[in-house]
Amino acid sequence: MPIYSHSQLSVYEQCPLKYRLRYRDKIERDTEGVEAFLGNIDARLTRVISLPELLSFYDATWRKSWHDAVVITREDVTQEHYQALGRKMIETYYHRYAPFDADTTIQTEMRLNFALDKGSRYKMTGFIDRLSRTGDGGYQIHDYKTSAHLPAQENADHDRQLAIYQLGVRKRSPDIKDIKLVWHYLAFDRDLVSSRSDEAIARLTADTTRLIDEIESALEFPPKESAYCDWCEYPDLCPARRHFHVVESLPQNEYLKEPGVILVNKYAELKEQAGAIGEEMDKVKEAIVEYARRPPGGGNGYERNGQQGQDKVRQPPEVPRQERGRAGRAR
Ligand code: SF4
Repeated sequence: MPIYSHSQLSVYEQCPLKYRLRYRDKIERDTEGVEAFLGNIDARLTRVISLPELLSFYDATWRKSWHDAVVITREDVTQEHYQALGRKMIETYYHRYAPFDADTTIQTEMRLNFALDKGSRYKMTGFIDRLSRTGDGGYQIHDYKTSAHLPAQENADHDRQLAIYQLGVRKRSPDIKDIKLVWHYLAFDRDLVSSRSDEAIARLTADTTRLIDEIESALEFPPKESAYCDWCEYPDLCPARRHFHVVESLPQNEYLKEPGVILVNKYAELKEQAGAIGEEMDKVKEAIVEYARRPPGGGNGYERNGQQGQDKVRQPPEVPRQERGRAGRAR
């Protein structure tokens, strides 16, 4: 059985077809949403240095990492807008937490590999942005979010991702008991904090293994349209969205940017051409009607073999008598 991650499971829940295209068919696309790009850049900034150093590291990382396949879906904003947004988030976070002595970082970008069950059938993987220990001996799993949407506390209390990571940390270090889950919503300067009881973790484990079983036994992966479609990398392969993709990929109207005087002249020129073509068409139409009135064999161009009625059409070779019979039985 493959190793699953929280994001893999989420993609299946969002849209089974997208899951199949990405994880089963492994169709790679080089596009990346600008929001994901921004999140990836910010997640790399986990070193504690001075703010100017941090911002200059951020700008350099942004320039080095930016590529043409980063997609900005909003038409009214630019790359510079997102870069400035990231800078603002870093500044706000820095001013709020400096001098960063509320806890001790144990590891950043910490990879977890663990199994949900004793038999290691249901394997999971994931990355923790930052794991820290607080002064009272507790542990915190931190996740940095650049999302433009601030979820409710209730969402945090039911979130699967960090709860799965809690399970992974406990499997790795069973002596760690007190774990808090902390989401930093950088665009809002807000943190959401939650925790999970042993019972909640047991329920999560059962739900997740059930979901993996469902995915493993799935024979059909139907498209499921939602707001996520705007960020989907497979609209051209999706029966539910292909028509939008076709419209978007139509060539642009090259006249849209021309000044009025050029447009008027072009229109007059095309109209004149259309008039000439119309006259030609009328003449051809008249000739067709005339042609249709001629008697058969009257030298109308339908070529014959010299003898009337013997068309130059190839006939099938003659079939021997007994084979004809066989052919008849076969029918
Ligand atoms: S466009 Fe929407 S419905 Fe189609 S595969 Fe992507 S997410 Fe699914």
